[in-house]
Parts: sequence; C-alpha cells; structure tokens
Amino acid sequence: MSTKTQKQRFDKTINLLKNEAMGIITSMPNIFQQLDPNLKKLIQSTKTALFDPASAVYTNRDLNLNQILLVGFDMDYTLANYYRQPMEQLQYQLTVEYLVKNKGYPAGIRQLAYDPDLIIRGLVVDRKHGHLLKLDTHDRIWRAMYGRHQLSIEEAAALYANQKIRLGSAQYSSLDSLFAMPEACLYCNLIDYFEERHRKSLSLSPVEPILDQIDHNRIINTAKLFDDVRQSMDAIHSDGSLKSIITQDMPTYINADPDIALTLHKLRAAGKKLFLLTNSYWSYSNCIMSFILGDKLPDYPTWQSYFDMIIVGASKPSFFVDQKPFFEVDTKSHAHMNDQVSSIAVNDAHFDRQKIYLGGNLFDFERMAQCRGEQILYVGDHIYGDIVLSKKESLWRTCLVVEELQSEIEFSIKYARGLNRAVQSDAKRLALDDEIGQRRAILTHIDAALKNSNLKPKQIEPLFEIAKDLRQGIEKSQNSLRKLDEKSFLFQDELERQFHAVWGRLFREQSQLSRFGAQVTYYACIYTSNLTNLLQYSSKHIFRASGDLMSHDIALLNTTQLAKKKYPSR
Ligand code: IMP
Ligand code: MG
Repeated sequence: MSTKTQKQRFDKTINLLKNEAMGIITSMPNIFQQLDPNLKKLIQSTKTALFDPASAVYTNRDLNLNQILLVGFDMDYTLANYYRQPMEQLQYQLTVEYLVKNKGYPAGIRQLAYDPDLIIRGLVVDRKHGHLLKLDTHDRIWRAMYGRHQLSIEEAAALYANQKIRLGSAQYSSLDSLFAMPEACLYCNLIDYFEERHRKSLSLSPVEPILDQIDHNRIINTAKLFDDVRQSMDAIHSDGSLKSIITQDMPTYINADPDIALTLHKLRAAGKKLFLLTNSYWSYSNCIMSFILGDKLPDYPTWQSYFDMIIVGASKPSFFVDQKPFFEVDTKSHAHMNDQVSSIAVNDAHFDRQKIYLGGNLFDFERMAQCRGEQILYVGDHIYGDIVLSKKESLWRTCLVVEELQSEIEFSIKYARGLNRAVQSDAKRLALDDEIGQRRAILTHIDAALKNSNLKPKQIEPLFEIAKDLRQGIEKSQNSLRKLDEKSFLFQDELERQFHAVWGRLFREQSQLSRFGAQVTYYACIYTSNLTNLLQYSSKHIFRASGDLMSHDIALLNTTQLAKKKYPSR
C-alpha cells in the first residue's frame, strides 16, 4: 500500500474515532465533565503525526509509554520554548556589555553584530587555536572556522592531522545547548575584531598572545578570549541581569503554547506522575512556569498542580553523579536570586507535593519518588546535561527535544533526490575501490612470477600482456575514482551548504553521522522537535526503533534494492 493511501486510511480512522468520541461526550456532558473537562480539547488536538515527518517523534530504542510511571521535564528550551532570535540577541548584548564593563574589553566591540545564522549546535571550540570544529562520529574534523573565516580542508588537516582530539581536555568545549549559540558567535566576532586591530597595529589588550601561542602563529590569546566570553556569559545568567529582562517581558521571549498544558494533562490523565527537574532557581522558574501553564486548563489552579515533584537549582549534570542533598525552598522569601539563602536541608522519605525542592541527586530522587530506572522518562534539550549523563549514570529513559530537527527534516524532504544521488555515489566508489584492489593483488602475483628466474621466457611472455592490461585497467579505474570523488565531494558539499552555508547538516556530515547526530543516536531513546509532538501519540503508544543497521546490513539492503531495479516484479 502506498504511503499516500496509508495516510488517507489513517486520517479516516482518526476522524471516525474523533467523531465517535465527540458524539459520546456531547451525549453525556455531565459524566464527562466530571471525569475530565479537558477531554474535548484532547480529542480535537489528535493529529496524524505518524505521517507528518517534521513533527513526529523518532525512536532509537523501543519505548513503551504504558510502562512509564514517572515523566520528568527540564524547563528551559524544553517546557519554556524561547524565541531564539530575541533570546540569543539579548544574551549576546548583555555579554558584550559585561566584557566592556568588567573585563577591560574595548568599547568598540559594541559595534559587533550578532549573527543568528553563524553557529549550529554540537560544534566544538578549540580554545588553544581559536577554532570552531564540526566533528563526525569518530571525532574526525570535517569543517573548521577561525573567526568568521572557514578553513580549507588542507589548512585544517595541516593543524590536526594525526592528532587525537581529546574532548575531555580543557582545550575543547562543546556547544551542547541553544544557550551556547550566542557565546560562540561572539567568540568568532571577537577573533576577527582583534585580528583587525593587529593588522592596524592597535593594542590587543586584554588578549595579548602568550608565548606558546606565538609558536602556533596566532596573534591572539584565543584561550583567554574564550574564557572571558564564557565567564561573562556565565555571569549574566547567574547575576539576574538576563533573567530580570526576560521576566519583565515574557511574551517577547517565550512561546507559551497552550498545547504544553494539554501534553502534560494527557500524561497525567493516563495515570502518570510528572516532575520538573530544572537548573533554574525558584524565583525564575516560578515566573516562567506561571506564564506557560498558569490559567491554561480548568483542573489546574496553579502551574505547580501539574507536577508531583518540583526540583529547581538541580545542578545537572552533577545531579546525576554527585550526592548533594535536597533542600526545601522557602517560597515566601525572595531574599536571593539563587534561593540558597532561603533553603533548608531535607531528608524526606517521600516527596511532598506542597514543597519545592532544590538541588538533590539521582539516588535520593529515586528513593523519595519510589520509582526507578526504566520506569522514568526524562525529557530535556541539553544533549550532555539532560540526555548523555542521565543515560550513562542511570537507567532513565530519555527524550531529547531538538527544535532544529524540523528544518533538517524539511531540508531532507526538499533535497531527497540529491541526497539519494550522494548515496549512489558511495556505492559506485565502493565498487571502483574493490576493482582497483583486486587488480593490484593479481598484479603483485604476476610481478613475483616475472622476477622468478626459474621460469623460461616463453612461459612468462603472456604474463607481460596480462600485466599491461591490468595496469591500464587500474589507471582507468583510478581516473574514474578521482573524477567521481571530485564530482561527488563538490555535489555533496553544495548540498550540505543549502542547509547551512558553513556547517552543513546538523545530524550528518556527508555520509557520516556528525558527532551531535551520533550522540542523539546513542543516548536519546526518542527525540523530536518539540515536546508538544507527544500530544499526537496515545499515552499507551509503543515507540519502535527502526532497528540498528550495521554496515553489512546496509550493503545487503543496497544489493536487494539494486536487484529490484534490475529485475522489477511485474
Ligand atoms: P534547564 O534547562 O531548565 O535545566 O535550566 C537551564 C538554566 O541554566 C537556566 O536558568 C539558564 O539561565 C542557565 N544557564 C544556561 N547557560 C548558563 C551558563 O553558561 N551559566 C550559568 N547558567 C546558565
Ligand atoms: Mg534546558
């Protein structure tokens, strides 16, 4: 059955179910109003997600929602859906101000404009060389940028060839969440700014080079520059300057989509307990959550009533590895932005719905929630803090929210033909490589025979002819391979650049997974572009992985497809 026909049937079934359910509800309004006044809204919101790729939920590891008892949510960029442009612009501007006022940077940096399209998630900063790098699943470098100048493959190779990229070392820093986009853009802008000052023989203060950097032909202390930007960004998050502006004008910065409340309600209505686990502190969380969930559904008088446990200031990822105690937040006192002043340590046997908790750790959480491991699903946006660490350190199931997935999918649909052509080039390359290798192997045997002095000239004469043919064949295949490589590299590169002019696709790099793509594949059980996409699935849905394909599986699949093309069934 074609996908179109399948979709039509599916739509029809859903509509029938919707009409039937609405009929029952309307005929017995009193009963249903008592059971669940939000039922009508829930049924109306049912969409045909299974066939809408951009808003589907994707599965790396089978997940049966029915077996999940507790669903946890991160707040920022998960429940709180920030509008990226104003949010990143604000972070950028405040960090620039901080650098000028507190770190001795020249006032001229105020002129450097934020570029929302310069950076993508998952890149790695090399502090020592001042580079941004895009790596693949094996930590090989595919694209590199210094300032806003993209390095050629040769330039990058000259610097990094035969070097192990040790991502755990202080030399590297990963851009793991959308919060990191503006600081990476500022870093690039500042590198160009100080390079320009160097050309004009102006002072490089406060990022004059240190001796070991001169060895690398760099005229800026790129490591200090990165640290200054990092510390300044850290400061504007922690000192309240960023948050006070957001909370004064929330509609400008946050999309309070009513479907968020419905998504949470749907899970609660299915008997699941919900919890909030955020690194944000109480006063900020309270403002943001009131804006997103306050007054949205009649059954929920406050935003807190959606949750069975609320944990703020959780210090993820350390929450998953350290043993910090839980504190109780004194919600009446607003003495301090960071809450600690108004908190007392607790050692409760159970979570108390009336309390707001701060800090804590995984072990105590599972004990107090009386729920553990695979019964818990955690939904977050930070690939390392929310997903990688929770997966490595616990048995929690994970759902990654990655909003860029939507545009990547739309791109893949638009350029499906081109992407398919790229896959076919890979198959051709494999065949040519093989041909060359086989011919070379035979040639080695023939060369050995020709050197064998025991053989008579008459015996070896035909071998000269064969060797000549083989050499010609190898040369021909090598030429074809060179042409194919050049053509397919240019073609694929151009295709990637349609997605992002510098970095290509987020999840892939040519035929490889990008480092980010690999992290998503290994650590996120399911992933989607927006948490409200969950609304489209039944609360008993089984998310099924399409199956891990190993290299030999893909080869077999290709062979079957080729065979089908050659011998199409009638
Ligand atoms: P979550 O995503 O709900 O866990 O919360 C993220 C919190 O971390 C927000 O309060 C952010 O303001 C904060 N945050 C993000 N980046 C930084 C940083 O670089 N330094 C300090 N806090 C940060
Ligand atoms: Mg977050």
